[in-house]
Amino acid sequence: MEKNLIVLVEDETALHELLRLHLEKAGFRFKAFAEAKPFLDYLEKNRPELIILDWMLPDADGLELCRFLKNKEETRSIPIIMLTAKSDEVDRILGLEMGADDYISKPFSVRELVARVKAILRRFKPSPPPILRGGPITLDPERHEVMVNDEKIELTPVEFNLLKILLSRKGWVFTRDRLLDLLWSGEKFVTDRTIDVHISNLRAKLGKAGELIKNIRGIGYKFEEE
Ligand code: CA
Repeated sequence: MEKNLIVLVEDETALHELLRLHLEKAGFRFKAFAEAKPFLDYLEKNRPELIILDWMLPDADGLELCRFLKNKEETRSIPIIMLTAKSDEVDRILGLEMGADDYISKPFSVRELVARVKAILRRFKPSPPPILRGGPITLDPERHEVMVNDEKIELTPVEFNLLKILLSRKGWVFTRDRLLDLLWSGEKFVTDRTIDVHISNLRAKLGKAGELIKNIRGIGYKFEEE
């Protein structure tokens, strides 16, 4: 399994090596920045599991940076620990209101910081996607497996995703356009007809259970349990 990446943004570079030593020893990958700008550039192409952010940076206000990251779709779910020399209650509340997930005052014990990092990552560990069910069909997104009456069915990736979409909102009618969009997001060569072909193949593979996928004439498809 790939090691979790922790990123530190902190202008006190003495802390870089100290944290690197302890976090790497604790089994993490580690990357440090002394300023906000190169860190933001780095974030364009990399996705840390957790960010440790200093409150006072030479080229940015750590709090503003925290708020920025928490408002941005791509980075919103990355937990942030704020580092600060300010330790009074007002600042603590402010930090949390800006979306920081935890808060640690300088000077701090590196051990405590590492413990907090681990605790937050445990809390944020994504839960596995739920198993979807409809009639006799069970779809396990994580194992990429479809069963009908406990019998495994082999589907192509497109068929699998189609079924997943329909099962994720049973009873909802998905237009062909919406399905095209969800499956191929804007690729031009696929047509409405493509959806019909995949649906028809999917139904055939599901056997009797395939009848639960209903064609809503002129609109699209839905999955409906009887
Ligand atoms: Ca600082």
